[in-house]
Amino acid sequence: MSAPTATAANPAALRRCRHWVFDMDGTLTVAVHDFALIRRELGVPPEADILDHLASLPAGEAAAAHAWLLEHEHRLADGARPAPGAVDLVRTLCGRGATLGILTRNVRPVALRILATLGIADCFDPGAILGRDEAAPKPDPDGLLRLARRWGVAPAAMAMVGDHVYDLDCARAAGAPAILVNACASAWPGRADHAPGDCAGLAALIADAG
Ligand SMILES: [Mg+2]
Repeated sequence: MSAPTATAANPAALRRCRHWVFDMDGTLTVAVHDFALIRRELGVPPEADILDHLASLPAGEAAAAHAWLLEHEHRLADGARPAPGAVDLVRTLCGRGATLGILTRNVRPVALRILATLGIADCFDPGAILGRDEAAPKPDPDGLLRLARRWGVAPAAMAMVGDHVYDLDCARAAGAPAILVNACASAWPGRADHAPGDCAGLAALIADAG
């Protein structure tokens, strides 16, 4: 039988993990983005990645599209609602002294606004809230690698929590454990190291034994 790995992909190691990175929309919040509406408004083809498509536009068109998207996301931030178990999980990790960050394809000001709306902004390292203007968007591992450098830890000692295959692929590319919540692991077979269901399930998974 092979020995357990030294990374936090091992449940016991995950319990000891001190550096956690969360996706925002659909992970800490109930997903509210209407991507069909965004694609319609911005003329994004069905199969194209929204941010990639905007990056391919001429400068003037791209600026107008980003402005619309930003206004739309700010409006959604005010109505943000926590995902099941998210606030308790964040408070538990924070209480244990864990260092917490956000890696989102949203923008940093919107992420800050959402954390304030949820009442958990004080739990996060302010310099570790990275949006699409601070790091290459997921699934690129750039953001996770930046946070690893900021915190002086190996990516394998961090945990990435998200609700989309982009989060999982970002984690895997960086070498960090990939944890899927609020989505079914069978949608992306073999990509998640853990799929505890939701943040409450994750809190139970990392609860102190005994
Ligand atoms: Mg998400």
